[in-house]
Amino acid sequence: MEILTAVALLIGLGAFVAAPMVRRSPPVEPGQNLKLENLLDRKEEIYAAIKDVEYDFHMAKVSEIDYQQMKNKLYDEAGRVLAELDRLQSRADLGVQPDLDADLETEIAIAKARRAKASRAGRAGKAGHIHRCARCGHSNAAANKFCGNCGAQIP
Ligand SMILES: [Zn+2]
Repeated sequence: MEILTAVALLIGLGAFVAAPMVRRSPPVEPGQNLKLENLLDRKEEIYAAIKDVEYDFHMAKVSEIDYQQMKNKLYDEAGRVLAELDRLQSRADLGVQPDLDADLETEIAIAKARRAKASRAGRAGKAGHIHRCARCGHSNAAANKFCGNCGAQIP
């Protein structure tokens, strides 16, 4: 009887220890989620900082030069965070969209990130042109080493 009690206790303890681990396991890669959450937190911090800087300027607590410098720095960082968020979210497809705050400052930061993304996409588009197979005329991506249709080597 004592052995049975001990076994029951061990099983109970095992379930108790294992349960939170099972509950906590995230549905997608934990590293990615963590990074996404950090970026979302950072984004909120930057937006809050931009509002603070603007408030301080309106309250005449900071000079216009300091205000512009701080704001530019924050916009640059917001642009980087938004671009990284965009990249992570389109890759992970977690269905989380950056909430597009309607204020002008945020729009500027988003536009900046979009421009950076568009210029990267433009460069990639030029590099990824189509290569026509000399043997069969099949259109292959330029990155391919062999024709997808007949297997001929692409020069
Ligand atoms: Zn071919």
